[in-house]
Amino acid sequence: MDCIFCKIANGEIPSTTLYEDNDFKVIFDANPGNIGHSLVICKHHYADIFEMPEELTAKGFATAKKIAGAVKKATNCDGVNVIQNNGEAAGQTVFHFHIHVLPRFNNDSVDIKFGGIEAEAEKVTEIVEKIKKNL
Ligand code: AMP
Ligand code: ZN
Repeated sequence: MDCIFCKIANGEIPSTTLYEDNDFKVIFDANPGNIGHSLVICKHHYADIFEMPEELTAKGFATAKKIAGAVKKATNCDGVNVIQNNGEAAGQTVFHFHIHVLPRFNNDSVDIKFGGIEAEAEKVTEIVEKIKKNL
């Protein structure tokens, strides 16, 4: 399979590795939002969180927590975003599970926005019920 993160994970493409174990490799993002922007890449090919086994997902986020702490100390940043995109609509561009650890600085130029929609009470109630049924 022609997957860039599989090639990075198995060493076929060299990368600056910050951390690795049997299941994850952590590298710097090639197009960082800020210096220190790291990617926690699963060593096994799963396209997204929906394909990931639960235990491996938990290990991935535990790894992201460890990296976030180290990145915070190393960069002296003011905050950290831990982001994991699933699907094109969510901004995913590499379809191999990974978690972004992005250091943030007061007044930096990263643009992550929420809000801007009107959440009607009736629709909210409907979606709450639907989500509960699907758990
Ligand atoms: P996402 O949009 O969540 O799929 O994130 C993919 C990320 O991978 C982007 O931030 C890219 O800059 C980064 N990226 C793509 N190719 C490489 C590469 N060869 N080495 C390091 N980072 C990469
Ligand atoms: Zn892959």
